[in-house]
Amino acid sequence: SVRVRFAPSPTGFVHIGSLRTALYNYLLAKKHGGEYLLRIEDTDQSRLVEGAIENLLSSMEWVGINHDEGITMVDGELIEKGDYGPYVQSQRLDTYKAYIKNLLDSGDAYHCFCSKERLDEVREKQKSLGLTAKYDGHCRSLTEEEVEKRVKAGDTYVIRLKLPENKDIVFDDAVRGKVVVNTEEVDDQVLIKSDGYPTYHFAVVVDDHLMKITHVIRGEEWLPSTPKHVYLYEVLGWQAPQFVHLPNILNIEKKKLSKRHGDVAVEDFMKKGYLPEALVNYVALIGWSPEENKEIFSMKELQEKFSLNRVSKSGGVFDVNKLNWMNNHYIKESPTERITDLAIPYLIEAGYISTTEAEEKYSWLKDMIAIVQESLDYVGEIVDKVDIFFKAEVKPEDEETQNILKEEHISELLDVFSEKVQAAEAIDQAAIKKIFKEIQKEKGIKGPKLFKPIRVASTGKAHGPDLPLIIQVLGKQNLLSRIDYVKK
Ligand code: GLU
Repeated sequence: SVRVRFAPSPTGFVHIGSLRTALYNYLLAKKHGGEYLLRIEDTDQSRLVEGAIENLLSSMEWVGINHDEGITMVDGELIEKGDYGPYVQSQRLDTYKAYIKNLLDSGDAYHCFCSKERLDEVREKQKSLGLTAKYDGHCRSLTEEEVEKRVKAGDTYVIRLKLPENKDIVFDDAVRGKVVVNTEEVDDQVLIKSDGYPTYHFAVVVDDHLMKITHVIRGEEWLPSTPKHVYLYEVLGWQAPQFVHLPNILNIEKKKLSKRHGDVAVEDFMKKGYLPEALVNYVALIGWSPEENKEIFSMKELQEKFSLNRVSKSGGVFDVNKLNWMNNHYIKESPTERITDLAIPYLIEAGYISTTEAEEKYSWLKDMIAIVQESLDYVGEIVDKVDIFFKAEVKPEDEETQNILKEEHISELLDVFSEKVQAAEAIDQAAIKKIFKEIQKEKGIKGPKLFKPIRVASTGKAHGPDLPLIIQVLGKQNLLSRIDYVKK
């Protein structure tokens, strides 16, 4: 059966690229009724970030990518789930020690005592000769006695993989096809670092084997490392999994997607009020294309339709405009209650309402949200879209808008309008439409000459959603004080 894993290093946030990696792994597992594991790769002790695992778990939970095995959060505590743990690499050091011993015994790995200074020197020299920089094998031929002596003396060392000379390493990648790399182009990879921790390269092979991983789906940046992994499988006598290297995700300028160019973390999108199903739908399509010509897919549909043979070789583009379009689609489709519940924290944060008001005025808030729901790309935009409902007085937003209130008929129009509003019992849509009709009949003011000034006076803006609806939500008192304000 299919067993796949998402194996992030806990660096503090989940990049959009990692989300896609996690998603494709998850989809493949679900499609085949297999298992999806979450493994924490924290062997680089210098890069640990506090709270990173918790943050990772909450991002994953939010997007709805739930793992069958791995570390999970239960009542605020991290616990292990599954039969192949521990699923955190820093808790598996004994396992790596056992396997490195095998490799040392078989002569496939060796101690290296070279200092950083020496390694730098070697690298500089190779570079100046135009050669690929790699370890020169200086410690390969140390005798057992020498090694033992130096280890006893407390010299620092690493353990390296001993690659054979001039040997082709061949493997099949589900996206790239057959890959052939000669060992002359590959470094004697460090497997155990001087702090005793394994490197990613060693730990990943040991863990993928012991956790019975069938498909390694990961970013293309790991493709150059794969020959070393394949060789390790060979000398350890294990069968290598199927490799699947996903194309890079680029920004619209076709450059690497990075934090400098805007939001790249799942958390950023969560905070702005994107809907998780929209983010998942959009990310699924960066680098994978469905057979049929459509773009909107639920998680369930993705699970049915996903297949590795439709993953593309060339980089996928992350276009936030496209994401916004898709998110807007999902917002439009959502019940207004859902959007209202999501919007309330933004309204509180903006100081428009208090927590108590959020409860007391819930139904009013819902009517207000309904007016702008269709126009939202993400829920965080609500703050600017509904400001008109919370300002005590509204000024025309710019000169052009201001000019709408300078025409000759304006003061007569505003007078008769506020008179009629005052006289009306309730200011609902029907009442407002009736008032408009009356003014048209009695004063001969109609069309844009009638609606535009009223819109500007009550919202400060020349354009916006349905006017009677806005006025109904504004309410009589608010409306009158706004008209009064611009009359002055
Ligand atoms: N820890 C690696 C990363 O964060 C995982 C690479 C892999 O999936 O093998 O990218």
